[in-house]
Amino acid sequence: MDNSKTVFRSLENAVQAAFGESAVILRSDSIPGGDINDAYRVTLSGGQKIFVKANRVRNLNFFLTEAEGLEALGATRKIKVPEVLGYGIDERRGCSFLAMEYIESAPRTEAYWERFGHQLAELHRAECGLFVDPKDAKQKYGFSEDNYIGAGPQKNDPSERWIEFYRECRLLPQIRRAERYLDLSVRRKADRLLDHLDSYLREPEFPSLLHGDLWSGNMMCGRGGSAWIIDPAAYVGDFEADLAMTQLFGSLPGMFYSAYSEINPIDREGYPERRKLYDLYYLLNHLNLFGAGYLGSVVEIINRFAG
Ligand code: ADP
Repeated sequence: MDNSKTVFRSLENAVQAAFGESAVILRSDSIPGGDINDAYRVTLSGGQKIFVKANRVRNLNFFLTEAEGLEALGATRKIKVPEVLGYGIDERRGCSFLAMEYIESAPRTEAYWERFGHQLAELHRAECGLFVDPKDAKQKYGFSEDNYIGAGPQKNDPSERWIEFYRECRLLPQIRRAERYLDLSVRRKADRLLDHLDSYLREPEFPSLLHGDLWSGNMMCGRGGSAWIIDPAAYVGDFEADLAMTQLFGSLPGMFYSAYSEINPIDREGYPERRKLYDLYYLLNHLNLFGAGYLGSVVEIINRFAG
């Protein structure tokens, strides 16, 4: 049965749709580490384990959009993402939930980083036209629906041009949201930066389906060193934006980048500079979600380009 579009009324209903009428939840163990949601490893009567995230009822949309992102990434078949088993509102437990395949994690090895580099590059080179607007092939960037970056809203209006998309759906909404942190001179510089974005970015050679929030906590190593990505903020954009996020809080091992470049070469000249503008989106989002600790880094980038 394809459960992907059913909003279930309980976790039990979702479990039974996925594993059969006789499936019963035996236990659930809390998993630490999530930023936003409560997370559990749930064990079923048949011995299967599933991963379940829960949040307030009113936040069901977090899970609908996360499921959409996981399904898009999974559909490329280029890198492993947990299969979505079901989502909905659990009335008895008073929460919304998202149930998915459980990943048995293993320590990260060199071979893992190499595989991860290859597979992410393959994802970025995969055909992705259908994820923006299946009826209008001219719309190359964006996503079928808006979603979230962490707990922050992320607009995904389809666009023919990357730079326009990045200005209108990425930097501009975050800068507007951050106005209370930015003094007038920084706001003016930010406007100047937005007006001249064409001078600093370029239209990518091809659009890529992105994970969208690729910090190290959103990559997992499974049994046998398999590479998994979790918790996406997926959309179609410039692959350099995903690479930038892998480096924002400290780069991944060199093996990852050399393996990545074998399949999708990184432009050593232009990327290091463009990367700063991709960092800016994530840093603005952190500023808006977590407060002034991120203001210095935001202002530094704005000054660098429009100072
Ligand atoms: P949040 O949305 O709250 O940030 P995450 O999706 O990052 O939550 O998940 C929280 C933690 O649960 C992760 O750091 C990871 O250790 C673990 N985890 C996430 N997805 C799975 C999964 N499918 N199988 C097993 N563990 C998972």
